Parts: sequence; structure tokens; C-alpha cells
Amino acid sequence: MACPTGALTERKALQSVIEALGNPELYPVIQFSPTVPAAIAEEFGLKSNKDVMNLLRSAFRKMGFRQSFDASFAADINIMEEAAIFLERQPENKKFPFFTSCCPSWVRYIEVFRPEFKDYLSPLKSPQQIMGTVIKQYITSSAGIKPEKVFVVSVMPCTAKKAEAEADGSGNKSVDAVMTIRELIRMIRFLGIDLGNLETEPSNTAFGLSSSSGRLFGISGGHLEGLLRTISFMSTGQDLNPAKINDLRGLKSRKEARIKINKQAVNVVAVSGLANAIALLDEIAGGRDDFQIVEVMACPNGCINGGGQQIGLDEKSLKARMKALYDIDEEEMVKMAHKNPTVTELFDKFLSKPNSAMNRDILHKDQPKPAII
Ligand code: SF4
Repeated sequence: MACPTGALTERKALQSVIEALGNPELYPVIQFSPTVPAAIAEEFGLKSNKDVMNLLRSAFRKMGFRQSFDASFAADINIMEEAAIFLERQPENKKFPFFTSCCPSWVRYIEVFRPEFKDYLSPLKSPQQIMGTVIKQYITSSAGIKPEKVFVVSVMPCTAKKAEAEADGSGNKSVDAVMTIRELIRMIRFLGIDLGNLETEPSNTAFGLSSSSGRLFGISGGHLEGLLRTISFMSTGQDLNPAKINDLRGLKSRKEARIKINKQAVNVVAVSGLANAIALLDEIAGGRDDFQIVEVMACPNGCINGGGQQIGLDEKSLKARMKALYDIDEEEMVKMAHKNPTVTELFDKFLSKPNSAMNRDILHKDQPKPAII
């Protein structure tokens, strides 16, 4: 559900989050999507830069969260695994084009309305679900905290992420409660936290570093841009140069690019808005076969315009949110998932080689649930 006028609103998670924070038996932690800092800066009149993330960390600690995690770290994990899957599928050209799967609304649309394309979807969990899994299985358990005591809260720009977290099996869920950005804003105000006057706090977690590729997931075309950077490295040993792919940038609802990797052209397309995705699926069903990777974000322009963001967004704010993510990519030293030392450490210590059987158990989705709308 993503209603641009606010006539429909989300099922609130605030009550369960407040209860978890007050429960001494639990160890509450929070993860936030790459779109959260810019939206919060906009709401509270702060300058949108990397400091906002550290102000947020400080606010989360005041609320009672024991650790806070940037979900862009999980986007980096997603890229590493997805690049390996793409390269494995490529030689025999099976299940092509390869559809990214980080947007749960898009995945649900395919599962329910266009199941003939289900095999084309990347099997990976979304960054939200990967982050929850990694927090419970590795980060907190390696500190001696039992997974069932850890209460993982997500802050997302997205109402569909609530349903995604709910659908995650019956036992110990990876994510226990999902708040929209609107709910986080209410919580900050309700608790009387004066964001502008807090001291910034650095990450207090292991695996706290994210590449700017992971942050680009917040804008349509960004997932593809980060993924191509790592596909290039995994396939040639060389970094994509330039790393920035201009054809995948900006607010157009459909962006196509042709990238040379290993002397071969890789054709990709990013669309946002489900109407544009449907038109693309019809083209593919009609015989169009020159795309190798398809990225779809259900909200127009991607998560920067998600259904859990503030209502009544104008184009100026949308451009500011987009610019905030591109600016981070300009300034960040670590621009590629495979260059993120904390991600490579996680693969070395806890996971296995990208797209190995062990990783499939942990990072890939279970079989899709029955098609009920
Ligand atoms: S594009 Fe919209 S529905 Fe998809 S993940 Fe982003 S906010 Fe959620």
C-alpha cells in the first residue's frame, strides 16, 4: 500500500516498538534504510549529509536501542551475492533477463500477477531481511546474545516491507517490527528528542561500514549501478571505470544503459512505477530479448518516493533526496561492495564464497508463499 495523498495509512508498529524498548528481557536493535537520513534531515530542517546518520544513531541510543545498523551494509551483501548469481547464470543464458528483487512490491507483483516470470527473479532476500538475518545469526549471537532475545526494528520508506517481514516464516523472524519513516518522525517528536542539538555518534556495531553502492539502492537505477560495479570486478578483476553510470541516473521513469565488461556488452534497464514495469514485461513477453538485467522499483523514482515517506512530496524535495544519495557516492572513499572490508570479512568469517550452498540457505528466500493478495 503506497497512497500518495495519505487517504490510506499503514498499520502502525509504534506500540510494539515502545513495548520492546521497555522490556528488560529483550535486546532491541534498529536498522535503517539509506533513504532515512535525507528524509529526516528534510523534516527537521537539518543539512543533509553524513552527519545526519550519526545524529540518528545518537537518537536511537536515547530511545533505548542497544545498537543501530545501516541497512546499506546488507545492500552490499546483496550485491556480492547477486553479482555471483548473475555470472553463474550468464554462460548458458538461462533465466534471462535477470530481475533484481530488492523491492518487495515488485516481487509480490510477479508472484501474484505474472508468475510466468518468477524464475527470472533474483532469489535473494531484500537488504532489510538480509540485515535482520545477519544481526540475529552473527552480530549479536557472536556477542553472546541469544537470537530469540534480539528484537530487530527496521525503519523503512516503505509500507510493503511490513508485509515482507511478516511473511518471513513462522519461527524466529529476522525482523520483528517495521516502522515507516513517518512513524519514526512521530516517535522522535513523541519522545521530545531535539535532533539538531544532539552530539553525533559513530556506529557502535561490528560491520558498521557501508559502501556508497549500497546507499544507491534508495534511488531507481542505483541498485543496478552498484551491481554492475561488482559484476565487473568479479568477472575481470578490474573495477568499472568510471564507476558512475550516468545513463542510470536522474528522475526518468525508465533508464537504459549498455556497459562493456570483459569486451562484452551488458544491456540493462531500470524502471520505476508499476505501470512502467508492466509495459516492460509486455515488451519482454512480446520477444524483446536484449536486456540482461532488469531493475524494477514499484514506487516512482524508487524508495526516495516510497509509500512510508512524508506525504505530499514535491519535485524539489525529491531532487534533494536524490542529490543527497549521489553526493554520498561522490564523497565516499569506499564506492563498491567488494571493496567494503567489513563485507569481505563477513563473507570470510561467517558466510562462504558468494553463491555457495551455505549462503543460499542464509541469504536466499524460501520458496514463495501461496499466491494470496
Ligand atoms: S520502491 Fe517503494 S515499494 Fe519498493 S522497496 Fe522502495 S519504497 Fe518499498
